[in-house]
Amino acid sequence: MAEAPFELPDLESASAAEVIAWAVETFGSDLALACSFQKEESVLLELLYAADPKGRAFALDTDLLFPETYDLLATVEQRYSTTIERWRGPTIEQQAAEHGAELWKTNPTACCQLRKIGPLKEGLSGLSAWITGIRRDQSPARANAKKVEWDAQFGLVKINPLADWSDKDVWREVHAKSLPYHPLHDQGFASIGCVPCTKPGEGREGRWAGTGKVECGLHEDQQDGAPAAAPGHSAIQVA
Ligand code: SF4
Repeated sequence: MAEAPFELPDLESASAAEVIAWAVETFGSDLALACSFQKEESVLLELLYAADPKGRAFALDTDLLFPETYDLLATVEQRYSTTIERWRGPTIEQQAAEHGAELWKTNPTACCQLRKIGPLKEGLSGLSAWITGIRRDQSPARANAKKVEWDAQFGLVKINPLADWSDKDVWREVHAKSLPYHPLHDQGFASIGCVPCTKPGEGREGRWAGTGKVECGLHEDQQDGAPAAAPGHSAIQVA
């Protein structure tokens, strides 16, 4: 659906906590936070569970995340007495058999489609709204993000409470509240994804470095070269 089926409020002057409070009130258990364990999610998890101790968060588990990411997931689950829902695509072995070994080297867009976009579609399929950590200053593709907008790609409301936050704003909040955050941020990784596609770097320059690719497709229209679906594989929820 290209346009929202109902009118969305203008919450551009609202704080992140106010935006999340509105989202919880409006969507209840049909709302979930997409958690990729960047520092932005450290802030959002704290705000979400303050607003709703039974709030939902999910992760796209590509099976290729850093060990530190899995450790942080466990820390978050313990801190908030919650279970992060995890969505997966095909196994690494299935993917290699059907598309060749190390698809992330030969066609990272297709790999993201299989391991991220397919699972994300499954994860979003039962929701009315999702919360993301995107900020307008992260990349040109994110520069026009609103705090509350219609996500035409996936057909639900998309909530970006930190859209107008700077990098410094996020770090200030993380440190002020002593929030758990990804340890690789302290090793020069500004943005953290899968092991094969993440290097240290500022902003998003360490993601798919040297390939020209800057987004995995979660926050933009489907990219050329991506398979329309993950043939033969349904994403599965593992937790
Ligand atoms: S970030 Fe890399 S390894 Fe992860 S799904 Fe995308 S292409 Fe595959």
